[in-house]
Amino acid sequence: MDLTFSPAEEAFREECRTWLAEHVPAEPLPSGDTREGFALHLEWERKLFDARWSVVSWPVEFGGRDASLWEWLIFEEEYYGAGAPQRVTQNGIFLLAPTLFEFGTQEQRDRFLPRMAAADDLWCQGWSEPDAGSDLAGIKSRAVRDDAAGGWRITGQKTWTTRGAFCNWLFGLFRTDPEAERHHGMTYFLVPLDTEGVTVRGVGRLDGDEGFAEVFFEDAFVPDDLVLGGVNEGWRVAMATTSSERGLTLRSPGRFTASAARLIDLYRRRGDAANPTSREAVIQAWMDAEAYRLYTLADVTEVVEGGSPGARSSLNKIWWSELDVRMHEAALGLLGPYGELAGEAHAAVDGGSWMKGYQFSLSGPIYAGTNEIQRNVIAERVLGLPRK
Ligand SMILES: Cc1cc2nc3c(=O)[nH]c(=O)nc-3n(C[C@H](O)[C@H](O)[C@H](O)COP(=O)(O)OP(=O)(O)OC[C@H]3O[C@@H](n4cnc5c(N)ncnc54)[C@H](O)[C@@H]3O)c2cc1C
Repeated sequence: MDLTFSPAEEAFREECRTWLAEHVPAEPLPSGDTREGFALHLEWERKLFDARWSVVSWPVEFGGRDASLWEWLIFEEEYYGAGAPQRVTQNGIFLLAPTLFEFGTQEQRDRFLPRMAAADDLWCQGWSEPDAGSDLAGIKSRAVRDDAAGGWRITGQKTWTTRGAFCNWLFGLFRTDPEAERHHGMTYFLVPLDTEGVTVRGVGRLDGDEGFAEVFFEDAFVPDDLVLGGVNEGWRVAMATTSSERGLTLRSPGRFTASAARLIDLYRRRGDAANPTSREAVIQAWMDAEAYRLYTLADVTEVVEGGSPGARSSLNKIWWSELDVRMHEAALGLLGPYGELAGEAHAAVDGGSWMKGYQFSLSGPIYAGTNEIQRNVIAERVLGLPRK
């Protein structure tokens, strides 16, 4: 096993590092899940795009650099290591884009990818419904054929739509054949949120940010050219998106190795050497982040050689989401009562970011498919255990 990067990859790392050192905002931006913070994050996204850093692994024609998967991992390490802003465009560039590359027509790719890379179009994910979360195949929102108009009429409701209130497009699953078996008869649609009959209503989160939305559809018309991957093929297309969401793209190791480095820095500033419990929690978090990095290198090797992690991406998802919680718990353990101070309090440490990060980390075992569901997937599809 050779864990060294080539001279060209090291040069790429240097280029990323230099650009980020010159451009990352000195002060962290306000949360991208507030309206004001989202607008500031968009400015940042456009800066990234202008310098061709917004979608490094995409082909040049769509705004990328044709970077290899290795270079993409390097970029992510440098990005998070530099403390750069969260990617508010993530649902488009990390979830929908890989699906568009795999299932989109050339016309759809040309139309959507460059605008997505430039943060001109902002995408949200419309899968969950009030009665269908884990049981995604239980969705009830439907699309009915309108032959005369050359498209579909959508009716129903989506919920928990991350940053839906700030986006202008939604990719979602809708039932197109009510007679078909549960996992069949669904279609993946790309829906402009300014379509007549679509209402987006923002929902506040427990931490005060307004990032979520509910989206209502009442006979909203969507033309045929906004079907992705074929009518009644939605489940197959959606499974490709979940593999990106749980696997490599949504949460790369760079995010966690950077948090582990910040945690060690916090320990140096606030740790109590006489308290072995907190020291062990910090060391364990660092080792777990490093283990995730090494595991990902093995995964990428497999992908580069033509394989696919498939259902094993569920292992990834459990690992990073639980690691994130433990890492923030370790930080709050070091901070004691100071961890509870809000960012603006004068004695707050690191702008209150550990508590904010902790609160968000608690949602990791829920979004992208709950960890109970991932364990079911691993049991049945990785280990081959019986369903009952
Ligand atoms: C921060 C965040 C962002 C999100 N963003 C989006 C988004 O952008 N778009 C979107 O469509 N959705 C989004 N979601 C919704 C998310 O996908 C759902 O919350 C998730 O799939 C769980 O569905 P549910 O909330 O309906 O819970 P339920 O499915 O009702 O589950 C409740 C509990 O029962 C357990 N459970 C359910 N079925 C089983 C089973 N078969 N075996 C064992 N345990 C089971 C679950 O694990 C969970 O603990 C987001 C959620 C969060 C927290």
